Amino acid sequence: MNDDCWAGIEQAIAEASGHAPAPMRRTSVGGGDINAAYRLEGPTERWFVKLNRADRLWMFEAEAAGLAAMAAAAEGPRVPRPLTTGVAGNRSYAVMEWIDLRPRGDTAALGHALAHLHAVTADQYGWDRDNTIGDTDQVNPWGRDWVAFYREHRLRFQLDLARRNGFGGRLQDRGEALAARLGAFFSDYTPAPSLLHGDLWSGNVAFDGSGAPVLYDPAVYFGDRESDLAMSELFGRLPAAAYSAYEAVWPLDAGYPVRRELYQLYHILNHANLFGGPYAREAEGMIDRLLAQV
Ligand code: ADP
Repeated sequence: MNDDCWAGIEQAIAEASGHAPAPMRRTSVGGGDINAAYRLEGPTERWFVKLNRADRLWMFEAEAAGLAAMAAAAEGPRVPRPLTTGVAGNRSYAVMEWIDLRPRGDTAALGHALAHLHAVTADQYGWDRDNTIGDTDQVNPWGRDWVAFYREHRLRFQLDLARRNGFGGRLQDRGEALAARLGAFFSDYTPAPSLLHGDLWSGNVAFDGSGAPVLYDPAVYFGDRESDLAMSELFGRLPAAAYSAYEAVWPLDAGYPVRRELYQLYHILNHANLFGGPYAREAEGMIDRLLAQV
């Protein structure tokens, strides 16, 4: 780890927070999959800092913009307040509010807040910037046709990447067959373009000291809210009370159970691209099951 970055980061924190520069205690915190993570403690405030290569600054800028968009949702979840991003000593960094995260809290409030996040809508699908899902690029050009958006910018984007990563053959053939038939899953359903967390697995959900739900590490865009719920059911599930509270605010369409695997497929393809073989085989099985339904 390049230690040269810290003076620059502490200076940037002082400038952005309006506090006088002060020595800060730095603790490495067990990080996520992608970035190195630290807690910085000054005399009055604590900050959560992520570091990556300098050329990943755009990723942190997109994350900060996503957190800001989520924070604006009335009755939405608490999110870490982004402070500043930049490059110092060859590292890109993102600084945000430190929150003492806990695994347990008000699960009904979680569902309520998620539904209110999704209640923020745009008039098109996409976002005003691209971002990342895990370490993979996620493109978000605005468009009015959800089926075309999901086909081109989610499924085909990951399938093309998979081909370049050596997953050719059957995955490509079956994946293309599914992309061509995608409209069949939406014959009587047109989703609203909802503000999505975008990477809503249980590792990106926690609670603060008062028990209020906190969402972090987003991959924000406007899309079908079912895709957030599908992701939340992919690697474990949220507590049952979260789903019932969600539906008390905004019930799901009856076709969600069929589309759930379609939305989970995007993340499994991404896992194949990030982590390799077994996920590619899992994706093939998902595609086979989906094609059997249309
Ligand atoms: P990555 O982008 O590398 O996946 P995350 O944003 O998921 O990193 O953060 C890694 C871990 O740090 C999380 O799993 C969570 O436990 C913790 N964390 C994330 N954000 C905060 C925060 N604002 N305050 C305190 N801890 C946090």
